[in-house]
Amino acid sequence: MSATDSTTETQEFDLIVLGAGPIGETLALAVAQQGLKPVIVEHDLVGGDCAYYACKPSKALLRPVEVAATTQHLRGVGGSRVGADDLLKRRDEQVSNYDDSGQEESLESSGVTVVRGHGQLNGERTVEVHGSDGAAQTLRATRSVVVTTGTTPNIPPVFEGIPVWDSQDATSVQDVPAHLVIIGAGAVACEAASWMNSLGSKVTMLVREGSLMSSAEPFVSDILTDQFSDAGIDVRFYTEATQVQRPDGMDQGLGKVKGGPVSIRTSEGETLQADEVLLATGRRPALESINLESIGLSADDVLEQRTPDWLHALGDAGGKHQLTHMGKYQAKQFAAGFLGQQVDEPSIEPPTPQVVFTDPQVASVGLTEEAATEAGYEVVTGEVDFADVVGAGLLRDDVVGKGKIVVDKTTGYLLGATLMGPETGEMLHAATIAITGQVPVSTLQHAIPVFPTASEIWVGLLDQVTGWSRTGYEPVT
Ligand SMILES: Cc1cc2nc3c(=O)[nH]c(=O)nc-3n(C[C@H](O)[C@H](O)[C@H](O)COP(=O)(O)OP(=O)(O)OC[C@H]3O[C@@H](n4cnc5c(N)ncnc54)[C@H](O)[C@@H]3O)c2cc1C
Repeated sequence: MSATDSTTETQEFDLIVLGAGPIGETLALAVAQQGLKPVIVEHDLVGGDCAYYACKPSKALLRPVEVAATTQHLRGVGGSRVGADDLLKRRDEQVSNYDDSGQEESLESSGVTVVRGHGQLNGERTVEVHGSDGAAQTLRATRSVVVTTGTTPNIPPVFEGIPVWDSQDATSVQDVPAHLVIIGAGAVACEAASWMNSLGSKVTMLVREGSLMSSAEPFVSDILTDQFSDAGIDVRFYTEATQVQRPDGMDQGLGKVKGGPVSIRTSEGETLQADEVLLATGRRPALESINLESIGLSADDVLEQRTPDWLHALGDAGGKHQLTHMGKYQAKQFAAGFLGQQVDEPSIEPPTPQVVFTDPQVASVGLTEEAATEAGYEVVTGEVDFADVVGAGLLRDDVVGKGKIVVDKTTGYLLGATLMGPETGEMLHAATIAITGQVPVSTLQHAIPVFPTASEIWVGLLDQVTGWSRTGYEPVT
């Protein structure tokens, strides 16, 4: 029940959700739908990073880039190029011009109270909210407080105190720097390299290790490095920034170039002059500014789930995944338990699907061969070039990419799949279903993909791991 105590001006709710990103929203809505009273606290935009500074704007920028690249490799279309102004306009439309009023209204009309301001704990089941106008209010949860505060960027020590871009600047890009140096090689770095290159930046990537997306199957880095090189993106492996100088750096707002040129000394002894630097060096759960000390806890206590039964962290803040769909699933599972509904536990830990929207797309789910072997599985794998799949060749003239599946040799269950090729993001769910449903490859080989579609890659992949068997699971060794 919601009530206001006029003496202390403390408002009571069944559930306090700290952070209105997709995970907080999913949870608050699920609870409100059952007639309980949740409140959600947000100090920036209702909808969270995902809607305004991460998933949505990045994909709004990347989709036209991908379509233009496809037309350039599709005789009969004539080839089109990305127009920077239109691209940025499309991004702005997709993020509602950074106006979250619709999102707030939608929550409020569904029974979720929205409180604006920075929220932090102040004792058991208590959250204090400080608004931008200096006003403070206290919220009390009769049951739980759930932290869904997302992440905050990691800053390598050499960049400490120097104004440069993080991923929010890159997705909010307004000024296109002539030369952009990207530090990092993960999904965010690779996607940002793609759209910034298309917007007209000369992009140099400094990569500490020897591969892009190092946790993916090794062929991903090989193919992407070649593609980036063809697109004019300069990838420097085993290279770090060792010294950085920006004498007139200043923060002029999101997506704006933050001052004059940046000089970067690299571990290879070279000095690069750039107009901007993007730090894509990972993000960590945003648990530092919520006053966990007030209840005697540290961020590690939260991440290792050493919390009282009224406090939980979900989504990116929970530290398990940094993906919207995984966090929303967590929120739904949590909501079911919170509401006393039967929680349908999966028979296996759900595999994590992910798509990196480079050209070509990198869609993966479950374990790579290396991860499966490290986990103790004896595996058999299948690997097929998309260039050998008729349907893929119809999507694009010169198809680049590869598919790989990893199968448990003992059970015949699919453990993981990587599909790197045109529009493979839309093909991935078949693999996710097969892994989650523990469908043996001896059964999967009877799921016949349509000719001529790119999904026909499954025929080649399954033929390799079943040895053309029609009688049962007989892996090729
Ligand atoms: C460039 C980029 C692209 C990405 N693309 C994808 C993608 O394509 N697909 C995908 O699945 N994932 C993607 N991700 C990851 C995805 O953005 C996150 O997994 C997702 O946003 C997590 O949702 P969340 O609700 O946990 O946190 P967030 O979306 O970060 O929301 C947290 C909210 O909490 C608020 N907040 C924080 N602290 C407080 C406080 N103390 N008081 C009040 N409010 C607070 C923040 O302002 C924010 O609105 C991408 C990430 C980046 C950086």
